[in-house]
Amino acid sequence: MPDFPGSGLLASLAARLGPRGFTSDPAEMAPWLTDWRGRITGATPALLSPADADEVADVVRMAAVAGVGIVPQGGNTSMVAGATPPADGSALLLSLRRMRAIRSVSASDNVVVAEAGVILSDLHDAAAAVGRRFPLSLAAKGSATIGGLVSTNAGGTQVLRFGPMRSLVLGIEAVLPDGSRLNGLSALRKDNRGYDLRQLLAGAEGTLGVITAASLRLVPAIAQRAVAWIGLASPQQALALLRRLEEATGDAVESFEIVPADGLDLVLRHIERARPPLAGRHAWHVLVEATAPAGTPDPAGGLGDALGAAAEAGLIEDAVIAANEAQADALWLLREEMSEAERIDGMAAKHDVSVAVSAMPSFIGSAKAEVERAFPGVRVLAFGHLGDGNVHFNVRAPAEADGRGWLQEQGAAVSRLVHDLTTAAGGSLSAEHGIGQTKLDEFARLAEPARMAALRAIKAGLDPRGIMNPGKLIPPPAFGAP
Ligand SMILES: Cc1cc2nc3c(=O)[nH]c(=O)nc-3n(C[C@H](O)[C@H](O)[C@H](O)COP(=O)(O)OP(=O)(O)OC[C@H]3O[C@@H](n4cnc5c(N)ncnc54)[C@H](O)[C@@H]3O)c2cc1C
Repeated sequence: MPDFPGSGLLASLAARLGPRGFTSDPAEMAPWLTDWRGRITGATPALLSPADADEVADVVRMAAVAGVGIVPQGGNTSMVAGATPPADGSALLLSLRRMRAIRSVSASDNVVVAEAGVILSDLHDAAAAVGRRFPLSLAAKGSATIGGLVSTNAGGTQVLRFGPMRSLVLGIEAVLPDGSRLNGLSALRKDNRGYDLRQLLAGAEGTLGVITAASLRLVPAIAQRAVAWIGLASPQQALALLRRLEEATGDAVESFEIVPADGLDLVLRHIERARPPLAGRHAWHVLVEATAPAGTPDPAGGLGDALGAAAEAGLIEDAVIAANEAQADALWLLREEMSEAERIDGMAAKHDVSVAVSAMPSFIGSAKAEVERAFPGVRVLAFGHLGDGNVHFNVRAPAEADGRGWLQEQGAAVSRLVHDLTTAAGGSLSAEHGIGQTKLDEFARLAEPARMAALRAIKAGLDPRGIMNPGKLIPPPAFGAP
């Protein structure tokens, strides 16, 4: 590790934060220095864990004066190594995990105010305790935090109906890169005081400031849900099914996820609790959840009728509707453990791409064929949020290859092809995971100049010394560029 530019700074930080808030013990820091996917390990002189927003403001101010970088970190579940510090040990790691208070939850306002370190599943519980729900969930819900979810504008499995994090954030409290406090929690329905700083910080991946708390929108609790697993022939049929279900059940459908046969095979092979959902084998599968608040008809009836009609029309091959909550959870497990099963199985070049919803079925087919032709032996696994026009388009190493070596040799070329195909289809190379550090080069290569110039101008304006999450999201200007 190079000589850290602010060793006096470390002593001041230790004094300000006390023993619970400051450590430079390698053993205590080690679990937080490698990204969730285990590909990138960083280094830091100290892990800071402030207890409240005042401490965060002081820490940022002290680092800003010393010109030292800060990497905000929540649950460290980023898929793009967004919360992993640089390898040269030049930045401090700032964990928000001690800030876990639900400051208020109001059923009459339909608003919860949560500190940045609140874990998503705890937020779900807090909303449920007042008869409401927070309508965003994802497989990392037991670790991902509100600060991380807002900062990545996370999506998940209910975007179809409720949108991503940006559409659920009503207000934000943050510390800006100079240590000043932004108190924007008031959750005003109408507020036209210029630029929307709340939406600027959401999705900024910690590059414009540290979020210390957020006001979030709640919706009525689900009284009943119907969860179905369907076997069918193609993504085209899956999309046709989605439109049919929407017509038949109104906006009751809130999750619509596709899984290919080999994806289901992986989950059944690696996840002990997983059980086959249907008797036969199908090329593609869909998981649907339809929900209804209290006082409205059970969605299972409408879903069952619509699936029956789809079967008669030859659109689907088989289907099962969960008879109880345990069965519903068992079906969800098959989808939620996809990433984990894939991780256990071996290395893959992972992509999180979006195109227009109507274009996604043909994109999956043509991009898969193109990638498998260009890189013989690879196995494409495209799964996820078909209803949002977003799939995780993962390219697994050839079965006989040493995965790590293959990824090192071929990974970048594979990703370039996938991203070129996505861009040619008018899509985005990051639908929901963000840019972090693993997509930085590709973002720089493919972003249109006006977008990149605007992002750089905003970053330079708010963080002129570049201390907030250095090396993430905003690529350094190309050599010789203005
Ligand atoms: C199994 C699994 C499934 C997933 N499924 C999905 C999915 O369906 N949809 C989806 O969108 N994502 C998904 N993710 C990705 C991940 O869960 C999200 O990106 C999540 O939002 C990260 O939350 P976190 O608290 O772990 O943040 P971290 O990983 O700690 O940080 C993520 C980014 O946010 C910044 N950050 C963290 N806290 C703050 C803060 N308080 N202020 C400012 N910046 C901050 C970090 O610097 C980093 O850039 C999945 C991840 C896993 C492991």
